[in-house]
Amino acid sequence: MPSPDQRLRRRIAAEGSISVADYMAEANAHYYGSRDPLGAAGDFITAPEISQMFGELVGVWIADLWSRAERPIDLHFVELGPGRGTLARDALRAMSRIGLAPPLELVETSPALREVQAANLPQARWHDRITDLDGDGPLIVVANEFFDALPIRQHDREGRELRVRFADGRYVREAAEMVIESSPAALEAMAEVAGHIARRGGGALIIDYGRPPGSVGDTLQAVSAHERADPWVAPGSRDLTALVDFGALGERATSCGVRVHGPTGQGDWLDAMGIGLRAAALARRHPDRTEEIASARDRLTAPGQMGRLFKVMALTAPGWPEPAGFMSAM
Ligand code: SAH
Repeated sequence: MPSPDQRLRRRIAAEGSISVADYMAEANAHYYGSRDPLGAAGDFITAPEISQMFGELVGVWIADLWSRAERPIDLHFVELGPGRGTLARDALRAMSRIGLAPPLELVETSPALREVQAANLPQARWHDRITDLDGDGPLIVVANEFFDALPIRQHDREGRELRVRFADGRYVREAAEMVIESSPAALEAMAEVAGHIARRGGGALIIDYGRPPGSVGDTLQAVSAHERADPWVAPGSRDLTALVDFGALGERATSCGVRVHGPTGQGDWLDAMGIGLRAAALARRHPDRTEEIASARDRLTAPGQMGRLFKVMALTAPGWPEPAGFMSAM
């Protein structure tokens, strides 16, 4: 099978150039499809891998919404891009303490990660695409660091799309004074999620690196072995991500008939969900791990760490209660 590098070079040779979105899609499909990139031995670490508290508080958020929606019996829990399945496992454990044990549906394209997920979550059903979700009951959809992996397009100020060529043995993206990003793939995914929720009821929780509102500029980045790397080198062997435009995602969701809450900082959201109490309870049960628990909480919530760069946005279906953790405009 040709490597992603060979495939990209062949396409560029045939077409002259390709879009940034095509480059990113090809590179990430291979990257995620061929490995488990998460954890200390991998390339990057995500919030659910830092501490069980993250997934647990997502579970509490879901169970609370379900509870105040008068406990529909046919609710399904859906996760997009579940990685190792850690968030879903921790969330389901927390939900079960509140009396909720929903069927689990995972949207995942990577065969390598599906295998890891199956070991952690044998009861799950898998889907390739959000559109493949079937049934009529309400859904709670969770996506952590999913939208940032979807392909982006880049344009210059005049609206011309910036293209990628291969010259002198390397990939080069056309230069521009100002780079303007958009992600039709992310908007499409958002519309599909919002469409399901508007029709079936339920809600969604989306957590990701957010682009500062109103800012422009190139945010495509690569990460390899926990270090920033050049996104134009070795496509398919490093993780490519871009900052998520929550403003655009929220507008698209609203236009599909759901209510949008936030985005708010991950730190504020976790504080509002009671991470302080959860950390104290865990430390009481595991006194030998007190420092580790405190440092995980800090990593997830401190403004200089993940607390501010990461944003949390929720969607709810018409008629569903206000979700926990967002300052409601009273
Ligand atoms: N949510 C996990 C993993 C984040 S990494 C965590 O927080 O640890 C991104 C995840 O999205 C991986 O599981 C990857 O395989 C999946 N993914 C990336 N692009 C995808 C796509 N187009 N469709 C479905 N899953 C995708």
